[in-house]
Amino acid sequence: MAKQTFEKVQTAKEGIRLDSPCYFNGEFISLKDAKISIMTHAFQYGTGIFEGIRGYWNEDEKQMYIFRIKEHYERLKNNCKILRLELDKSIDELISITLELIKKLKPTSDTYIRPNVYKAGTIIGPSLLNTNGKNPTGLSIYAIPLGDYLDTEKGLHVCVSSWTRVEDNAIPPRGKIQGSYVNTALSKTDAILSGFDDSIILSSDGHVCEGSAMNLFIVRNGKLLTTSVSDNILEGITRETIIELAKNEFNIETEIRKIDRTELYICDEAFFCGTGAQVSPITMIDHRPVGNGKVGPVSKKLQDLYFEVVRGKKTKYKKWCTAVF
Ligand code: PMP
Repeated sequence: MAKQTFEKVQTAKEGIRLDSPCYFNGEFISLKDAKISIMTHAFQYGTGIFEGIRGYWNEDEKQMYIFRIKEHYERLKNNCKILRLELDKSIDELISITLELIKKLKPTSDTYIRPNVYKAGTIIGPSLLNTNGKNPTGLSIYAIPLGDYLDTEKGLHVCVSSWTRVEDNAIPPRGKIQGSYVNTALSKTDAILSGFDDSIILSSDGHVCEGSAMNLFIVRNGKLLTTSVSDNILEGITRETIIELAKNEFNIETEIRKIDRTELYICDEAFFCGTGAQVSPITMIDHRPVGNGKVGPVSKKLQDLYFEVVRGKKTKYKKWCTAVF
């Protein structure tokens, strides 16, 4: 295929442009040409993993900062081990491919980056083995303009889902495995159809896990509480960020322990966090107001700080922001 050049600038207003570049198995090609066979193993069986990374546009500096890209690719490399994906790229190589992609896209608005590592063979049968080279590993990375994934201002009304979380010894949520997002899809869809903004999923023993595609914090008596990473959640990078920011900047400790469903109904504040969700306050759970039913002070100050940090506006945390240009 002839080498392509990508001169146009992609903006949020334009939406997703199919002639924009993406990375697909070793080269940069147009998004519309990056196609996989209907026989692809990952399409049949969900045998792939992915990441969601955000780039934040800093208008004053005319700079794009990618938030905690190293941690995202560390997680991706770890998750490759779970699914026996043979990815022949180092973390540094993955970062440099991503930076090259964003340089080609030249975005001037917030951008979402989606790497996928997947079983690319066209064999029948779910084995993850690459026997005789017939089930190799594919890598794709695309980037699109993205604003808020959830409303970050109004205060969300969420429900406790009737679906329970997939478990570590079934389809590990830690793995960010494509197929495991059927669990997310069922939970989120039912929540929307029932008039809620999103859902909180419980483990099969009835404890709080996380949101459909984000981690969850609650506030009780001035202290943050969140679920442990060994309780069937994704090991969220935003979760880690919030724990660190709360401690360093506001002297608020996070207690990590099992959370009962009914603690959701009596807590003072609650919020979702994640790369997509950012920091999204929750003001109502299962028709019960959270605290006084308004966005709480701890959620608000953490959200304000988070938005400054991700845009590279806090010198102390600029170590987390990789400048593209
Ligand atoms: N849990 C799930 C199920 C998710 O899909 C996500 C989004 N990646 C998160 C939590 C939040 O993780 P992170 O902060 O690393 O984006």
